[in-house]
Amino acid sequence: MTQVVIIGAGPTGLTLAMLLAKQGIAVKLIEASSSFRRIFRGEALMPSGLEAIDQMGLAELVTKIPHRAIDAWEFYIESRPIFRVDEPMESGGKPCTLISQPAFLAAVLDRANQCEQFELIQGTAVRDLLWQNERVSGVKLADGREISADLVIGADGRNSIVRQQAQLELVQVAQSFDILWFKLPTSAAFQAENVFYSVLRGQDAFGVFQGSEGNLQVGWSLHRDNPIEWQKIDWAEKLAAAAPDWLASHFRAQKDSIERPLLLSIVVGRCPQWHVPGLLLLGDAAHPMSPIRAQGINMALRDAIVATNHLLPALQQSPNLAVIDTALAQIQAEREPEIIEIQRLQQAEVAQAELMHNYPILRHAVSRLAPVIGSRIRKSWLDRQLQLRRGFTQVTLKI
Ligand SMILES: Cc1cc2nc3c(=O)[nH]c(=O)nc-3n(C[C@H](O)[C@H](O)[C@H](O)COP(=O)(O)OP(=O)(O)OC[C@H]3O[C@@H](n4cnc5c(N)ncnc54)[C@H](O)[C@@H]3O)c2cc1C
Repeated sequence: MTQVVIIGAGPTGLTLAMLLAKQGIAVKLIEASSSFRRIFRGEALMPSGLEAIDQMGLAELVTKIPHRAIDAWEFYIESRPIFRVDEPMESGGKPCTLISQPAFLAAVLDRANQCEQFELIQGTAVRDLLWQNERVSGVKLADGREISADLVIGADGRNSIVRQQAQLELVQVAQSFDILWFKLPTSAAFQAENVFYSVLRGQDAFGVFQGSEGNLQVGWSLHRDNPIEWQKIDWAEKLAAAAPDWLASHFRAQKDSIERPLLLSIVVGRCPQWHVPGLLLLGDAAHPMSPIRAQGINMALRDAIVATNHLLPALQQSPNLAVIDTALAQIQAEREPEIIEIQRLQQAEVAQAELMHNYPILRHAVSRLAPVIGSRIRKSWLDRQLQLRRGFTQVTLKI
């Protein structure tokens, strides 16, 4: 029987493992972290990601885990409201929804565990690849174990070890910022209506919303050209100083409850080649995504669907390594156009934010003239969101 080894039980690796194992393929999934809660997990899903979950037969599962729809998006510049857009943006469409990623991954794992051919090896990292006749033939774990495979899939995220060991180049797009991530107790305003607020004041910028598990989450943009000693800052005061008054008082009231922030470094880029014989990269390992407009999980789920479509026919035959390797190139060819386009749109969003960051006069003009030009800015923002919500290509699970 053909043996697949998948490295990384994030959204890419776990959903792909589940889809293949359900079709009777022998899958070993290796996850370094011993708990899904131990590392930061984003949680916003756009309609394209929700549609992928539907196709995987997991829609009902999402209703049973902590989740919360976004009700609206609202933008503040220099403490003035600029515009607001209600969700869902498409009539009859699904709203952007926050789902608890640890709970989602645990639920998908439950499904995978029901398949006889599935095995999870958790709490130990992959360190190296095994090679035979210039083809990847398995992996070596940190604890010294060696696991053979007819196909290895690297779904180990943006700092992928698999990518490095396979010597697959990552062409990075320079990023000007990292993210500091905070959690704090929510307020009545967010419980009544979960608005995703984007706030810009001076050169300070952050986004805030109520997460799927009921706490407030804040992503603070930490500019690389303006390094600060963020560990020493009074964050309740710093957030309050940038926020509109009603939100500032909440930050001050929660002074003692704001959790120490987590520094999340942003890596964005794409491998010109996602595969070598016997090995394929998927998800952030092949194309690390910016957090802007919540695209990475959505792209990961869509990668898993396209990979399943191409791999199943190849894996269901008695092991034919040449047929498997041909499928790897087909997967990259089908997924790459969407990734290129979505990363381009994300960079366009970043460029808009950079303009505001760099030009005080522009911030001042937009905030002052919002009553007059706010509707035009709103329309231009809305036009840019459509593809970021729906995706760029048709992705359909063919099993
Ligand atoms: C600040 C921030 C916020 C974000 N918010 C969102 C959001 O709201 N919505 C959205 O769609 N996207 C978001 N993203 C992007 C999203 O997190 C990623 O694009 C997505 O998680 C990629 O999924 P993945 O499965 O490919 O990789 P990952 O989610 O990174 O999973 C990789 C897995 O591999 C494991 N692993 C790593 N190395 C090894 C090893 N050597 N051996 C074994 N296992 C290993 C890791 O422990 C991890 O479980 C955000 C990103 C950032 C940085």
